[in-house]
Amino acid sequence: MRDTEKKREKRLPIYGMDALGVFLLLLYIAASLLFWITRSFITQFFAIPLVVIFLLRFFSRSPWRRRENEIFLAPIRFIPETWQLARCRRRDPEHLFTRCPSCRRILRLTREAGVREVVCPRCRATFLYRVP
Ligand SMILES: [Zn+2]
Repeated sequence: MRDTEKKREKRLPIYGMDALGVFLLLLYIAASLLFWITRSFITQFFAIPLVVIFLLRFFSRSPWRRRENEIFLAPIRFIPETWQLARCRRRDPEHLFTRCPSCRRILRLTREAGVREVVCPRCRATFLYRVP
């Protein structure tokens, strides 16, 4: 069992393109276009290290590569979550909306003032929510 898991781990593509790689490549293209327009060599000081980092990451088999990508994606993942909550609040102004702190599911609450104990229907986590 352990051996087959190890073999599967080895077959997984651990090098190649990821979200941070795409971002670095786009930044490099932007810097190159800026150089093409302005003819300023300052842009090359940014463009060359960008392409070097991109290539090093592209062919890297280090587990740090995946970690770097997760750190890069963390603030970006937050954007659609906030947008989703704002849309719920706009569509149904008679209720309050919040997220479960443990599973991030959107929860709908009535507008009764006071401190309430909320139980998440998905993960059964309980937390206190204060309605102003
Ligand atoms: Zn939950």
